Amino acid sequence: MASLLWERLRDLWLFQRRSRSGEVEVTAGTIVYGAVVRAFLVVLGSLAVSGLVPDLWRHWWLVLLVLWGVVFYPAYRRWSAFTQEVRQLREELLCGSCRHFDETGQLCVLLDEHVRPDYIPCGGESWEPRNEWEE
Ligand code: SF4
Repeated sequence: MASLLWERLRDLWLFQRRSRSGEVEVTAGTIVYGAVVRAFLVVLGSLAVSGLVPDLWRHWWLVLLVLWGVVFYPAYRRWSAFTQEVRQLREELLCGSCRHFDETGQLCVLLDEHVRPDYIPCGGESWEPRNEWEE
């Protein structure tokens, strides 16, 4: 129960969605959006705290440390996981070699559905080879 609550809070803070099977769906958009919202909240929190502690800005490095720990490091970790997942999809899945596959969103643009290791939206029927010269 406590771990489920913790997982929910973590998902909320990192702006991550989960598939029906419970796996985290990482997309470039959610990483950037999550980082921007967290940065906004940190700046807002810093402004609120500076009202209580007037010389907070003398310790500007503390704000930078919080920004790194709360905004940039989680975004970096998620971006690493995202690029690894995209690489894995490209190498292992049929969609990785299809011209309708959008890597940044892990999306089939033809059917507008997310591709997962256990789910190929068209079942392979609409696959078309990617033209390497287009990239
Ligand atoms: S058309 Fe089919 S093979 Fe191509 S990306 Fe979409 S689901 Fe994957």
